[in-house]
Amino acid sequence: MSTLLETHALTKHFRLPGGWLTGKDRFVYAVDDVNLAITTGETFGLVGESGCGKTTLGRLVLRLVEPTSGRVNFNQVDLTGLQGNALRAMRREMQIVFQNPLSSLSPRLRVEQIVAEPLTTHRALTASGIRPRVMELLEQVGLGRQHLDRFPHEISGGQCQRVAIARALALNPKLIVLDEPTSALDVSVQAQIINLLDDLKKSLGLTYLFISHDLNVVQHISEQIGVMYLGKLVEQAPSEMIFAQPLHPYTKALFGAIPLPVVDRKQELVVLEGSVPSPINPPGGCRFHTRCPLAQAVCKEQVPELRSITPERRVACHFV
Ligand code: SF4
Repeated sequence: MSTLLETHALTKHFRLPGGWLTGKDRFVYAVDDVNLAITTGETFGLVGESGCGKTTLGRLVLRLVEPTSGRVNFNQVDLTGLQGNALRAMRREMQIVFQNPLSSLSPRLRVEQIVAEPLTTHRALTASGIRPRVMELLEQVGLGRQHLDRFPHEISGGQCQRVAIARALALNPKLIVLDEPTSALDVSVQAQIINLLDDLKKSLGLTYLFISHDLNVVQHISEQIGVMYLGKLVEQAPSEMIFAQPLHPYTKALFGAIPLPVVDRKQELVVLEGSVPSPINPPGGCRFHTRCPLAQAVCKEQVPELRSITPERRVACHFV
């Protein structure tokens, strides 16, 4: 399988306002030097605690946020160099589904208008072709003709998320970034949406970047998993390997904190103390050293590289 999406040293530092007052610029180091690759047809689950930069990374790969430095290659094309029509054309192939379905849909538009919006904006079909395409998309996500005239507030949260997924599918994208797509839904509805996404991936040959803090959901849907901590990718491995035996101390703590139905999990439990440091002033060296029970002097000085431990696994720790 070929690589669909690659990031090279992708970095985003947000400048904080008010620097002119103090004469010193301050930044939020949201994403730092992230290299990852997503294979066509796979789901790459991106996990980490709130504020670790995973949502910013999702927006960076779509160029909804401009990177401070680094590159994003999609289908062998460097997105960071694209502007105007070339960027718009590439955006047809990459879509996003947001966390909160109700707030991601315009409250003044009916379901038909919402799903048709990308088709009209990109002039993808003639006027007579739009209604049949909208019907087809609604069917694909388990909705029907009866939903066409509804407003978002007249349907359930799960149905709103199905509408958002139909809208994301409208232009036949290759990649969909799913940013916590189930975390605002009831547990029973979450399972339905996950199964729907899985079915759509198989039937339409989609590739997903699935961002979530829910490790059980990520395990269910992902082939590959990347773990982020304070803007850094600290471990990446196939799903079954990382759940059976996480290697990075942070991954061990993260995965050890949840009950998982993995019979032969061989991990030792790592209990984390303290909270995640501020991304405005992240620790030097290994960003995890202030909470890591295995930290040594070198961890404060040197940034551990994300290096290959086996052909399938990469870990950023001096002692793995
Ligand atoms: Fe812990 Fe050091 Fe490894 Fe960082 S490099 S995870 S601080 S042992």
